[in-house]
Amino acid sequence: HHMDVVTATPKDWSIDPFAGTIKDGHVWGRGALDMKGHGIIQLMALIALKRAGVPLTRDLVYIGNADEEIGGLGSRVFVERHPDLVKGIEYVLTEGADTRVEQGKVRWFGIDVGEKRTWWKKMVVRGTTSHGSVPLGDNPVERLVRALSRIVDYETPVRLTPAVDRFFKAQARDQSGQAKIWLSNAAAALKSKAGRAWLLGEPERNALLRTTITPTVLQGSEKTNIIPQEASAELDIRLLPDEDTVAFRRTLERLIADPKIELHAIGDMAPRYDAPLDTELFRALERVAGRLLPGVPVATPISAGATDRPYWAGAGPICYGIDPWLVELKESRYSVHGNDERLSVKNIEFGLRLYVETLLEMAGPRREGAAGR
Ligand SMILES: [Zn+2]
Repeated sequence: HHMDVVTATPKDWSIDPFAGTIKDGHVWGRGALDMKGHGIIQLMALIALKRAGVPLTRDLVYIGNADEEIGGLGSRVFVERHPDLVKGIEYVLTEGADTRVEQGKVRWFGIDVGEKRTWWKKMVVRGTTSHGSVPLGDNPVERLVRALSRIVDYETPVRLTPAVDRFFKAQARDQSGQAKIWLSNAAAALKSKAGRAWLLGEPERNALLRTTITPTVLQGSEKTNIIPQEASAELDIRLLPDEDTVAFRRTLERLIADPKIELHAIGDMAPRYDAPLDTELFRALERVAGRLLPGVPVATPISAGATDRPYWAGAGPICYGIDPWLVELKESRYSVHGNDERLSVKNIEFGLRLYVETLLEMAGPRREGAAGR
C-alpha cells in the first residue's frame, strides 16, 4: 500500500483530519480510505496470522511505499532502487478496485485487473510572429486549431476487453429490461445502433471501452492583435491497457497531418498493467468474496485513472486492486481526496476477515483444496 496521502484543509472538515478520532463508529482522518485504512488492515491481517501461529506455506511480504499521490513516484523509485526486494514476489494486492455499494446494497465486489495508460502529449507549432492586422499566412494558432479540430472529430475505436466484458456482465445482474440485455452481452450491444449509443453515452463506460483523447491546455498569443511565434496544446490521452502504442502514435500523426507540428511527451509512460483474470490469487479472492458476500457478483473493473500498480506489475508480480470494505459510492466519491474521509470500524473488521481468509487461502497450511473450507 502507499503510505502517503493528499493534503487536507482542516477548516473544511468537521473533525481534525490528522487526529485519527473514532466517533460514531468510524475512524476519521485523511487517508482513512485512500489508503492508510487499507494498509492498516493488511498489517492487522499479518499480525493476526502471526499471533494465531499459522504455519505459512508461502512468504508474505508487507510493502508500505511512499509517494503514490505524485504520479506513482514512490513505487517507481522502490522497484528501481530495490529490485531485490520485489524479486520473486508473485502477487501484489493493493488499492484500486471499485466495489460498488449503493443504498446499502452491494452490487458487485471488484477485483481491479488493469489500468488505462496515461500518455500525455504536447503539440507545438512555430510560425512567424506579426501584427494581427496584416496576417502573413504563417499563423501557428491556425495550424494548431486545424489539427486539433481533426483530433476532436476523430472517434477512437471501441474495443471490449475481456475484463470490461466481465465487469459489465456483473453490472447486468441487478438490472432489468434493455439495460440488462445490453450489459449482459456488450459485444452484441455494440453492434446495434441503440445499444452502442447507450453504452457509450455513459462517460464511465465510454472511458472503459476506448482510448480517449482530451485536449486540455491551450497556449497561443497573449494579446489579441499579436500573432504569436508559437502555439501549443496539451492532450490528456488515456490508452486502453493493451493498446498498441506505436500504432496509436501513427494514428495521431495521421490526424495531425502537419509536419510543422511537433509532438512531445509530457512525463514518462507507466508500464502496461493488464493482469490475467484466472490466477491462484484471483480465484482465492473470488472464493473469499463468495463466502463473505453470498450472491454478490465478482466484477473485474479496470481503472480509467492512475495508481502505482503499473510500476509494481512492471517489476514482475501480478497485481490486483481491491477495496477491502463496503463503502457507499456516494461516501467514497465525496471523501476520497475530499473532506471528512472516514472508515467504519465494522468495515475494518470486514477488511481484516477478507485479508486473513485470502492469505490463508494463499499461504495457509491447507492451501490445496481450500475451496471446501
Ligand atoms: Zn490511493
